[in-house]
Amino acid sequence: MSHIDALKTRNQNFAASFTQRDLVPLPKLGMIIVACIDARVDPTTIFDLELGEAVIMRNNGGRVTAALIEEITALSFLVGRITGQDAPGFHIMLMQHTKCGAQQFAAPDFQADIKARTGIDVTPSAITYPEQDLLTDIARLRDEPNLHGGLTVSAMLYDVETGLAHEIASTQSLEVLRKKAADL
Ligand SMILES: [Zn+2]
Repeated sequence: MSHIDALKTRNQNFAASFTQRDLVPLPKLGMIIVACIDARVDPTTIFDLELGEAVIMRNNGGRVTAALIEEITALSFLVGRITGQDAPGFHIMLMQHTKCGAQQFAAPDFQADIKARTGIDVTPSAITYPEQDLLTDIARLRDEPNLHGGLTVSAMLYDVETGLAHEIASTQSLEVLRKKAADL
């Protein structure tokens, strides 16, 4: 049996007991979880999420890149249109993990090679010290004027060897983070 056939069978089993036809598109927990695409760090499994509970956005490293900010901005407008609210409130939970392959993007020779072959700058996706990179990503959200100040953000670091996610930054609103930055 091919892997595709195996997934088809799993889906048929899933559909056989499916009872959630009335789910709404907005996440019940009001959360966006940003995580790495690494197959070991699927937030649905790690946080035991149910269908419809959270929006999950994944990219190389789970970093806050320009592309990710565009997605969140567009989503905010989309949710605003659905709900009729100008500034829908969301919590953005950033999650990076130990032993991340995106550490390779920090190597100058690899960065230069990708840039020369494709024109792509992978620097914003590079992982160096995850605890620090998570704080950098919170600052990237804070400094993005298209994101509403009412959005809240937190950060976790997931350990692929223990299965535990450790809190690196507790929940704060972008508005409060902007005030703190302005006071410095
Ligand atoms: Zn990773």
